[in-house]
Amino acid sequence: MAQPLVGLELADLQRVVGEGQPTFRARQVYEAIYRQKVPDLLAISTLPAALRAELAGRASLGVPRLTNRYESVDGTCRYLLGLEDDRTIETVLMPEEGRDTVCISSQVGCPVNCQFCLTALMGLERNLTAGEIVGQVLFVMRAHDLSASIDRLNIVMMGMGEPLLNLPNVLKATRLLTDPAGMAISPKRITLSTSGIIPKIEELAREPVRPKLAISLNASHEEQRRELMPITRKYHLKDLLEACRVYPLRHWEKLTFEYVLLHGVNDTDADARRVARLLANLNCKVNLIALNPGPGIPFETPTDERVASFQAVVRKTIPCFLRKPRGRDIFAACGQLKRIETTSLVTVSA
Ligand code: SAH
Ligand code: SF4
Repeated sequence: MAQPLVGLELADLQRVVGEGQPTFRARQVYEAIYRQKVPDLLAISTLPAALRAELAGRASLGVPRLTNRYESVDGTCRYLLGLEDDRTIETVLMPEEGRDTVCISSQVGCPVNCQFCLTALMGLERNLTAGEIVGQVLFVMRAHDLSASIDRLNIVMMGMGEPLLNLPNVLKATRLLTDPAGMAISPKRITLSTSGIIPKIEELAREPVRPKLAISLNASHEEQRRELMPITRKYHLKDLLEACRVYPLRHWEKLTFEYVLLHGVNDTDADARRVARLLANLNCKVNLIALNPGPGIPFETPTDERVASFQAVVRKTIPCFLRKPRGRDIFAACGQLKRIETTSLVTVSA
């Protein structure tokens, strides 16, 4: 199998480009892949033609390939991308006035069985490599010609999978995404969302190059969180909040807590007051997400009034925002990524 180059750091590329080549050749390949975002290895015009052909004979670029594309009425694009082993993952582009957000996957499926999430129903198929994580960003940037305006680009690791259960590859991908000599995306514009794998949060805290951290809280007390997110039986809410309290935030950083609102389950004003109390001593903000429904998900979306009331209670003490659902009609919104073929399903209103 041809060696995929996306996902390799400069030192790895030096080995692949080969002995006997001057060291600047590897740097040329690195810049062509990550900075110029060439479509294939034969397009690396800075290399001598013979080396280009020789390299293309034994290596490939390794960007995931388009399998399917769904476009929402709100402009959101959900991509089904194919990997080397023919498994598929999902990547979502949410264009907005003034900025674009790319939501990338970190695993094929997810081993954490949150009760409200469609991805959970897939189970875990495998971890993604660093190249497959970075490859999703390269794919979307090429497909939408986003390269020229990189400072408008936000990356959220909120697609399929639990990124902290694939931490080494997620960290390598983060280094590649942020490298000023390559893709040069600021770490301020990359956010990783976790269901709360405490030891891995502690590991992340020690990394010099890391994304911003978002925690999926989703419940206002331990027992409720255990019901909704059974992983809480292993990683208790109390310990999770303590890990957040000692997490070394950079001067420009706040923690984000995500909270999926489920009608009649965790969406009362009393829940909101408890959430505000739980987070009272943290430098944080709260992002509310009204449930995005899906087949097999035994919950309902709360009314807009309920959501507004919850937000108003939390907001008294903590900045609290409502995450606008994007691409619900094509199953591209949070928790809806399960490789659903939209055309074969009943449409859900956006
Ligand atoms: N596995 C990570 C990141 C992917 S999920 C995590 O759980 O944090 C991204 C966000 O979508 C999480 O905050 C999660 O709680 C939320 N989510 C999952 N299912 C959802 C659904 N059906 N509706 C709305 N949000 C959902
Ligand atoms: Fe996995 Fe996140 Fe879905 Fe939970 S919400 S099952 S951690 S993808």
